[in-house]
Amino acid sequence: MKICVLGAGVIGVSTAYMLARQGHDVSVIDKGMDVASGASHANGAQLSYSYVDPFASPSALRKLPAYLAGIDPAIKFGVSLKADYLKWGVSFLSECTSKRYLKNLQARTALAALSCETMSLIESDLATAAIARTGVGKIVLASTAAEYEQMKKTSAGRADQTCLNIDECIAVEPSLSSWSKAIYGGLFAKDDSALDPTVYCQTLKTALVDNFDATFHFGQTIQDIQTASHNQIIIKTDRADHSCEAVVICLGNDPRKLLKKLDMSLPIYPMQGYSLTLNAIGTSPKTSITDLQNKIVFANLGDKIRIAGFLDANQNPNGAKARGQQLLKIAREVWPNAADFDGPVQHWTHFRPMMPSGVPVIGATKIPGVYVNVGHGSLGYTFAAGSAMKIAKDIGHAFKNSHTQMRRAQ
Ligand SMILES: Cc1cc2nc3c(=O)[nH]c(=O)nc-3n(C[C@H](O)[C@H](O)[C@H](O)COP(=O)(O)OP(=O)(O)OC[C@H]3O[C@@H](n4cnc5c(N)ncnc54)[C@H](O)[C@@H]3O)c2cc1C
Repeated sequence: MKICVLGAGVIGVSTAYMLARQGHDVSVIDKGMDVASGASHANGAQLSYSYVDPFASPSALRKLPAYLAGIDPAIKFGVSLKADYLKWGVSFLSECTSKRYLKNLQARTALAALSCETMSLIESDLATAAIARTGVGKIVLASTAAEYEQMKKTSAGRADQTCLNIDECIAVEPSLSSWSKAIYGGLFAKDDSALDPTVYCQTLKTALVDNFDATFHFGQTIQDIQTASHNQIIIKTDRADHSCEAVVICLGNDPRKLLKKLDMSLPIYPMQGYSLTLNAIGTSPKTSITDLQNKIVFANLGDKIRIAGFLDANQNPNGAKARGQQLLKIAREVWPNAADFDGPVQHWTHFRPMMPSGVPVIGATKIPGVYVNVGHGSLGYTFAAGSAMKIAKDIGHAFKNSHTQMRRAQ
């Protein structure tokens, strides 16, 4: 079947790969000039399969006044009367109950497990050092005694997580001995890792072109999707029309305009984050580290260290540089030996496509042949492989069913 994948970020490229692997004829369209030009480009690089707590939770609800007042250094929700934001906000509030939190956590845990499995499949398919993961395991640090006690409870009986005391954390990642703030312990996940997301997308692009004859159309802005006769779908861009039998929308932060034209709406809202890429030094961590207190992640990319964090909504675009500097200041304060803070720093900022529930939307739409794979929020890279596997299975089943029906009709 001829399938167009719209968007060449981690979600689009992974989707294209899993579809091509199933034998479909795949084209990828993106307005950027290469893969990973959007939210995927320089994200935190963590493949965080074991720690997937949704943001919407009773605890986030308690902290909401601080987020709205701008007094939490890591999360700032600007006040805005934009209809999309208000709609998102109302839905977010309804997702913050314990019941919804647990339901969303369950859905994310299942997707993370599928992603971990699928990522191993992709790695063994490609067997290339280019996508060898760099960070080995991950520790989520507990900066209060209460957080540590909670971690002991949540990790009990789980094979993928071990709760470590402070000495055990340092035994796993010796450079944590120079962490400047209080640590009570941490959750260690051996299957979590790090990998540069741009390198991941580039490697999959090469495999798609070389092994599966897939086509990439860059520099084309998608404007509309039209259904034609004989199960044909036309993708209209500013430079060309592309015809296909099925289409998967993987447009990150931007699917809403297109979905509106198809009479659909999803409450995806862009929330800004920031990253820094610095040179690694002898004392840089090998293990990925998540600092829950400051909402900062550290990942080892070989000769570089990626630091990412913060979650902002509706901030003044002119304030992005200052937020990047603030991230640098906090990261340096908490972990001065993590990277070469006196050397060059590459700053980057982009938006996470956030659903209020934290659960991405993956599957068929009411229009035959049109699928979505969107709304992956803060963990889109982690969820990419599993989301791609899921949509490829859905399309595979639909394709099989339509052929069975055609044969019966003949
Ligand atoms: C600071 C930061 C740190 C993060 N850290 C992590 C992390 O450590 N681990 C993790 O799992 N996740 C992380 N994330 C989240 C993750 O990066 C995102 O969820 C993920 O990149 C979303 O991927 P995507 O493919 O949906 O979107 P994108 O990468 O944005 O891809 C969408 C593509 O669609 C294209 N596009 C949009 N509109 C059009 C149009 N009309 N026509 C043509 N093309 C179009 C864009 O050019 C873009 O290339 C982080 C995000 C940020 C911002």
